[in-house]
Amino acid sequence: MQGLMQDWPLLVHRIIDHAALNHGEREVVTRSVEGPIRRTTYANIHSRARSVAKGLTDLGIEFGDVVATMAWNTDRHLEAWYGIMGIGAVCHTVNPRLFPEQITYIMNHAEDKVMFVDTTFLSTLEGIKDKLPLLKYVIVLTDKANMPETTLDNALCYDEWVAKYDDDFAWASFDENTAAGLCYTSGTTGNPKGVLYSHRSNVLHSMCGAGSDVMGLRAMDAILPVVPMFHANAWAITFAAPASGSKIVMPGSQMDGQSIYELLNTEKVSTTAAVPTVWLGLLNYLEENDLKLPHLNKVVIGGSACPQVMIEKFEKNYGVEVVHAWGMTETSPIGTICSLKPGMEDWDADRKIKQKLKQGRVPFSVEMKITDDDGNDLPRDGVAFGHLKVRGPAIVKAYLKGEGGDVLDEDGWFDTGDVATIDELGYMQITDRSKDVIKSGGEWISSIEIENIAVGHPEVAEAAVIGIAHPKWDERPLLIIVPAEGKSPSKEDILKFLEGKIAKWWTPDDVTFVEELPHTATGKIQKLTLREQFGDYKLPTA
Ligand code: ADP
Repeated sequence: MQGLMQDWPLLVHRIIDHAALNHGEREVVTRSVEGPIRRTTYANIHSRARSVAKGLTDLGIEFGDVVATMAWNTDRHLEAWYGIMGIGAVCHTVNPRLFPEQITYIMNHAEDKVMFVDTTFLSTLEGIKDKLPLLKYVIVLTDKANMPETTLDNALCYDEWVAKYDDDFAWASFDENTAAGLCYTSGTTGNPKGVLYSHRSNVLHSMCGAGSDVMGLRAMDAILPVVPMFHANAWAITFAAPASGSKIVMPGSQMDGQSIYELLNTEKVSTTAAVPTVWLGLLNYLEENDLKLPHLNKVVIGGSACPQVMIEKFEKNYGVEVVHAWGMTETSPIGTICSLKPGMEDWDADRKIKQKLKQGRVPFSVEMKITDDDGNDLPRDGVAFGHLKVRGPAIVKAYLKGEGGDVLDEDGWFDTGDVATIDELGYMQITDRSKDVIKSGGEWISSIEIENIAVGHPEVAEAAVIGIAHPKWDERPLLIIVPAEGKSPSKEDILKFLEGKIAKWWTPDDVTFVEELPHTATGKIQKLTLREQFGDYKLPTA
């Protein structure tokens, strides 16, 4: 028997309709790329998004076409975002930190017809324009006064262009499984692969992301997504915030400690989200200037493992709750979140912090398990570690144009490429990416755990651990350290600091010091490059 409820397709433009009608006065505040703070509302975003939709239709964009953005988190980007998706076109958020060759590749692969671009990235686009035969128009996200000279043909000034169209536009209605967004993985090996989100997956994922034990968004909240919209939907915030009626504060191009602090403070931000490097910058700025965070309640940290010192500083020194999260482009991206369970509130502070080092448990709509190399399920005992696999309505089932072939096993599980443990209470902890684990004497050593402890040393800015070939043990860990500014810790200092915090046989066989580490476009340490760089390294124990 069929249920007798209404057929109401889950389309993302219904979110901005809802926000405009029910939270129309709620502010969207942007540190503009031009400099000044700009203030608008959900009602205005909604109106301008419909003008964008009308304008795109006028430029010949149709249902199913791909429209790209290469832009910071701003109000204009949000208008374009909803305007594109609202006509059934696909919003392809291009990561500007990719190499120009990769940008060329993904724009051609995606068949982008129009691109909205911030002035910051105009020169990148000018440099590759001759290799983009399908790109018809470029819309520069600025006003007339700030419109730069450009060598691009068919470049339009966003504010002028959008002003030509009124908002008398009816969103398209279509099947909820229609593609809405496209985001390429950063492709640490091989070409980037396209993850194609649907309207349905985005709506379901934003409801999941707003949930109390996830980001816990309410109309009373003001949220600052430092995490970019080109990085897996800004972790669902650009959907979840308008759906919840939360004020949204957009950082534009400025993500240094001072700029973020200013927005947190003046806009009374209650919740914010970003990768650990951003928080490192903020914490340094707060310490140097003896500042506090009186309005901030919650900071969501993910994208790479959150070091213990970071949790301690936020929670103990600033009274801000840290919510550690894990996910990937392929999981929309929220996969797990480390909110506590009943009973844990009585734990002492140190035990709670230890628990928060884990990447957390799944919200409803994500299933997860770990398996051994042969695909056998491993126990949830917090000890066994294996391949982390996930399943759910907002998890990839194939990459765009079938790149990479079948990515699900016969039971529909997606192998994340991460290696993890899951404890009895369902909390997952990443030990490594499968290609980064160090195999020593048939056992695995977690590089992440050692790195995490090493960055807790006051004279260490950044740390990476890689496996170096060893005649007896196959591989042994090498710890590579970037010293904190003006500091020069010794190998002995560092090893002493690790003592007692990790198993003895995990102790790195050597420690070496470098000025900087290579990073991917999403800010992660590029282990592959490091392994190449240290390919001939001779360990003192070899
Ligand atoms: P890409 O895979 O293209 O580098 P993603 O942003 O999709 O970019 O990266 C996802 C990966 O980032 C995960 O598979 C995992 O290895 C890592 N990651 C994300 N969050 C965490 C976290 N909290 N702790 C450790 N690793 C994380």
